Amino acid sequence: MPSAVRAMPPQPETAPLAQRLARRVAATGPLTLAEYMAECLLDPTHGYYTTRDPLGAAGDFTTAPEISQMFGELVGLALAQAWLDQGAPEPITLAELGPGRGTLMADLLRATRTVPGFAAAARVHLVERSPTLRAAQAERLPASTQWHNDVADLPENRPLFLVANEFFDALPIRQFRRDAQGWREVMITHHSAGFAFALSPPAPIAALDHRLADTAPGDIVELCPALPASVTEIARRLSHRGGCAFLIDYGGWRARGDTFQAVRAHERADPLAAPGTADLTAHVDFEAIARAARAAGAAAWGPAPQGAWLGALGIAARSDALARGIANATQRAAHEAAFRRLTAPDQMGTVFKVAALNAPDDPAPAGLVPAPETPPLADAARPNRRA
Ligand code: SAH
Repeated sequence: MPSAVRAMPPQPETAPLAQRLARRVAATGPLTLAEYMAECLLDPTHGYYTTRDPLGAAGDFTTAPEISQMFGELVGLALAQAWLDQGAPEPITLAELGPGRGTLMADLLRATRTVPGFAAAARVHLVERSPTLRAAQAERLPASTQWHNDVADLPENRPLFLVANEFFDALPIRQFRRDAQGWREVMITHHSAGFAFALSPPAPIAALDHRLADTAPGDIVELCPALPASVTEIARRLSHRGGCAFLIDYGGWRARGDTFQAVRAHERADPLAAPGTADLTAHVDFEAIARAARAAGAAAWGPAPQGAWLGALGIAARSDALARGIANATQRAAHEAAFRRLTAPDQMGTVFKVAALNAPDDPAPAGLVPAPETPPLADAARPNRRA
């Protein structure tokens, strides 16, 4: 091809992943949002996370650890405080789920150098499916770091100190709209004009029985089928061996409504256009986290709004100390903007929440109070029963 003739970027409907998904719909019928999300995000050759580093100004979205080093530092000190409260056990597993570029873990390891014995006790384990992001993490983290594909692969034999920031929001969700006859699942179908949403016929869904009381016809609720299994793995280790997990994400307590969204180049995008080229997420239901954790024998804390939690951990003093070391006025203004972005209610301070899990007799994790009651599910609604 003459060099002046540049290849066109693949058109959405002819790109390999779009074609494969379209063939799958033709062969076996519409996909659940969870099936679609799983393929778009983690397909080994065309998935969004598998093929790129999506973070930062040149990417699609920016996360708290990428905004300021203060985030990873304070998470690190909260984990180190829990470790001291539990008698400084060693060795420990120091784990992160979905570590992105490894920035949070790098900031955490630097900040906790001031805590004698913590670094020597910590064995770093990361849960990450993306080869591209594993490579970015390896550049910033110790050579002894170990990687896993699943939470279930984390070591079982020692206390677990864990953080997950914006991990659960990337787990695939199913979505249901209530009508007079039952729940209709929101599905993704495909026809000549491309991918489109469709509703399945109404049916009773046992896993949603507990939502009949707080919803009315027309309401939408979401379920994250992979969440209880991941939380159970964490909670079981905490209740048997001790440790503490901080889970940070955007979401709420027993949320309602459609929160399925796509983001590309820092803008909201159509989640059905050009599958595999945008970040797909949904709000995290912190009640589901607390419920699964308690069922597996752990204590559940929070969720607290991120701004209030960082405030309780002393982010204002840390921010002032850093600002005093910045001579350049433009850089100081950027630092102050980053502080506001992490904490202000109209930015990430309220929509992002912090929850923690630990063993029932261990002291409260820094900055959190016990989670609200989680009424038991009707037998039929237990996650391990088929819907
Ligand atoms: N925690 C980082 C990155 C958040 S993006 C930060 O705050 O900057 C989501 C991360 O989770 C990415 O690293 C992505 O590759 C990883 N991820 C998404 N789904 C995953 C899954 N099912 N298993 C393992 N890692 C996953």
